[in-house]
Amino acid sequence: MSELNLLKSLDYSVLQQCMHCGMCLPTCPTYDETKFERSSPRGRIRLMREVADGRLDVTPTFAEEMSYCLGCLACQTACPAGVDYATLLENARGEVERQHVVGGPMRRLFRWCTLSFLFRRPRLLRAFGRAMWLYQRTGLQGGLRRLGVMKLLPKQLRQMEAMTPTVVAPFSNARIAPLETPKTPPKYRVALLTGCVQDLLYGPINRATADVLLANGCEVVTPAVQFCCGSLHAHNGELELARDLARRNLDLYDVDRLDAIISNAGGCGSHLKKYAELLHGDERYHVRAVAWDRKVRDVSEWLVEIGCRAPGAGRPGSLEDAATTVTYDASCHLLHGQKIASQPLTLLQMIPGLKLVHLVESDWCCGSAGVYSITQPEQSAKLLARKLDHIAATGASVLASGNPGCLLQLENGMRRDPRLAQIRACHPIELLAEAYRRESGGYDGSSRG
Ligand code: SF4
Ligand code: SF4
Repeated sequence: MSELNLLKSLDYSVLQQCMHCGMCLPTCPTYDETKFERSSPRGRIRLMREVADGRLDVTPTFAEEMSYCLGCLACQTACPAGVDYATLLENARGEVERQHVVGGPMRRLFRWCTLSFLFRRPRLLRAFGRAMWLYQRTGLQGGLRRLGVMKLLPKQLRQMEAMTPTVVAPFSNARIAPLETPKTPPKYRVALLTGCVQDLLYGPINRATADVLLANGCEVVTPAVQFCCGSLHAHNGELELARDLARRNLDLYDVDRLDAIISNAGGCGSHLKKYAELLHGDERYHVRAVAWDRKVRDVSEWLVEIGCRAPGAGRPGSLEDAATTVTYDASCHLLHGQKIASQPLTLLQMIPGLKLVHLVESDWCCGSAGVYSITQPEQSAKLLARKLDHIAATGASVLASGNPGCLLQLENGMRRDPRLAQIRACHPIELLAEAYRRESGGYDGSSRG
């Protein structure tokens, strides 16, 4: 694909889809906040089309609008014309980066260190994760904070440091063997994608995913070293890097020998299902990418598709352990990007003793949106506060959500909110894995191979 004006090089039918009906407006959090047409899906699409037509330059104002958009894709769900907003936004952001209209050398250096360097080298990323784990575990981080050293940092770095998530070791490669087989003859063979952020921060979710797949007759293939899916890159306008990572992933797996490729992260899954579109025109990889897209499934989608086994009531006494009030917050990319709404709820409703309570506006973004809490901290905080109020109103003791970014954002918010500090945040699959473990005789996972 030509690198010249990414929006212009898009199939023009994608740019023409919007019929300006405005049905997306009430679903858009940034329009809700500002009531500015340019901060609405319809307004942004108009701006993108003007850039594609050469009637508008890519200015800092255009860049700011593309950055202010959460990429939550609620507008896609609402749109009767089937607008492919995700593709439009990725290309608009790509054009902003290509023309270098925002940011100085520090921003470029930060993006290079993360997107171009660290997140393309899984071994190095894990080494960085281990160093961070040591820094946090030894108390060095806490000590430096107490001494006020962080106050010496520039404001943006200080804000980022305050949001540094807790690294959880060991990582997925030490929790899951490259091949694990169920106790009974396998009915399916699936690959488990362990992610990059998920790998460093939420290894137990990956272990729980493997356990649930095994409990449902799946042989689980989990390469010890995996590549980032590239969603971080695509959502931040680095489409060439995203293509490079897609090719590396296609090279890593023997797709023909798999029944499904399982993701447990809403944001990653949404991107993983679009490799064919990303690699359109790539003679070497496109056919493989089409086969790949057909097999990618969110774990909840896959389990419902194969008829997930409902966990038993468990040993006497264990029902009380499970008796929990749970509420569910939908990851935007799971709900709006992948259209997976009912499956996580179906799985939760299977769990004996679990009471599911509705969360008002569970389809409204929590403000996580990738790096949005760093790039747009004010709007991110407003959306988080709105979400926390709704969570508090449920009275739930557990909040379940199917995306690491959302879990991070919600955990950060709940920790600081006295109403919610005791609430546990987890992935729905963890609750299902725990229910299997509580069953009579207990499920001990797997035979490792
Ligand atoms: S992706 Fe979300 S924030 Fe962006 S235009 Fe669509 S609804 Fe609005
Ligand atoms: S709902 Fe779809 S067609 Fe209507 S204005 Fe929004 S993006 Fe355009």
